[in-house]
Amino acid sequence: MSNFDVIVLGSGPGGYVTAIRASQLGFKTAIVEKESLGGVCLNWGCIPTKALLKSAQVFEYLKHAEDYGLNAKKVEHDFGAVVGRSRGVAESMSKGVQFLMKKNKIEVLNGFGKVQPGKKVLVKGEHGDTAEYTADHIIIATGARSRELPSLPQDGKKVIGYREAMSLETQPKKMIVVGSGAIGVEFAYFYNSMGTEVTIVEYLPNIVPVEDQDVSKQLERTFKKNGIKIKTSAEVTQVDTSGDGVKATVKTAKGEEVLEADVVLSAVGIKTNIENIGLEDVGIAVDRDKILVNDYYQTNIPGYYAIGDVTPGQALAHVASAEGILCVEKIAGMHVEALDYGNIPGCTYCIPEVASVGMTEQQAKEQGYDLKIGKFPFSASGKAKASGTPDGFVKVIFDAKYGEWLGCHMIGVGVTDMIAEAVVARKLETTGHEVLKAVHPHPTMSEAVMEAVADAYDEVIHL
Ligand SMILES: Cc1cc2nc3c(=O)[nH]c(=O)nc-3n(C[C@H](O)[C@H](O)[C@H](O)COP(=O)(O)OP(=O)(O)OC[C@H]3O[C@@H](n4cnc5c(N)ncnc54)[C@H](O)[C@@H]3O)c2cc1C
Repeated sequence: MSNFDVIVLGSGPGGYVTAIRASQLGFKTAIVEKESLGGVCLNWGCIPTKALLKSAQVFEYLKHAEDYGLNAKKVEHDFGAVVGRSRGVAESMSKGVQFLMKKNKIEVLNGFGKVQPGKKVLVKGEHGDTAEYTADHIIIATGARSRELPSLPQDGKKVIGYREAMSLETQPKKMIVVGSGAIGVEFAYFYNSMGTEVTIVEYLPNIVPVEDQDVSKQLERTFKKNGIKIKTSAEVTQVDTSGDGVKATVKTAKGEEVLEADVVLSAVGIKTNIENIGLEDVGIAVDRDKILVNDYYQTNIPGYYAIGDVTPGQALAHVASAEGILCVEKIAGMHVEALDYGNIPGCTYCIPEVASVGMTEQQAKEQGYDLKIGKFPFSASGKAKASGTPDGFVKVIFDAKYGEWLGCHMIGVGVTDMIAEAVVARKLETTGHEVLKAVHPHPTMSEAVMEAVADAYDEVIHL
């Protein structure tokens, strides 16, 4: 008889959510974790970065207090305290997961887990002690870490990854951020707000390159206005850490230049944690750094599953959680619908925030759609004006023929909380006119969604 019905390897938002759902469904469940419960998301990703960004945003508001008729003279920041607050938030979130494990009667097995043939998991503790467990279903959710480029080896001091970037003891005066995806631009905004001189180096022609080009351009304009230097279509070809700081050689179409900084942050993507976890012993198929799975997260070996960052699909916390829930519901014999990876919202939490779902204008055109596009700037929104945050817009993209909502792209304060409307509407296959006829509250930023849709149908009121 097996020790458990389900063993989950890794306790990130993929693993711990899976374990809870498994327990809810009546499975005797264990979770294996080698570090703190909560994975990258709670300890080194989503949550601590949002705590840092909140400090930066409050600091920015205080610096501009007079815009609101307030007087906040001598506004200063304590970098150590800002980092300390973020670490405290992460710690309390991890404790929250501990509580949830207990509440749901999930056994936590501390140590490094390795899957083995015969539906076994070998767990090696901190002191080298090992124990073997069996389960009917083994779910791999070991996540990922910062990816290292050969031209940018991380030493953790002068060339750093995201973990060091959110726990530095002293604030660098000058920082180069390589890569302008969500992680890169969030740190660029944070450090620039704190007073660090920041240069972003992006290989592709636009920052936040997966976003709609209008959004990328707007973010670039705002960042530049706020003093962040941006080099696009540019590549760091080597770094020299031999002196006091770092010298980074940056290659562009115009030639090469050497930039100097105290620290280079490498934010060029992730590398999955698939080494030494027994995949080869069991014969689990991997392709290009990801574990291969079907629509229900089953690997090629029966009884072994994989979810979250270790699998293809967007490397996002909400994706990992959704995949895990679907995986165990399928194991429980429930009727489940495969996840629609075309309707996953992506959010970036710098200021202005960026949020999007579905196709960009370029993607929709490439797919041959005839489009109806609407745009509503926050400068025409009463709520945005009253809040003193009129930068940004909502852009909506509809298929002109059948009215399908193909994509929604937003930039501005608070948009990461607004994108869910488009996700739900798209899930329910809502057309533009239905959104238009759904009365939105006034004054709210969400009215901009309704107005953008109205603009697409030439019915906009406030433009
Ligand atoms: C700086 C940063 C900011 C981010 N911000 C966001 C955001 O705002 N929103 C968002 O949706 N996503 C964000 N992400 C991405 C998000 O953190 C990941 O997509 C998410 O954590 C993936 O969840 P997971 O469960 O697959 O893996 P992880 O969270 O990586 O968890 C994997 C866990 O497995 C453990 N583990 C690994 N190997 C073993 C082993 N052999 N034995 C035992 N335990 C093991 C690890 O210690 C870890 O705890 C961010 C990422 C970073 C780096």
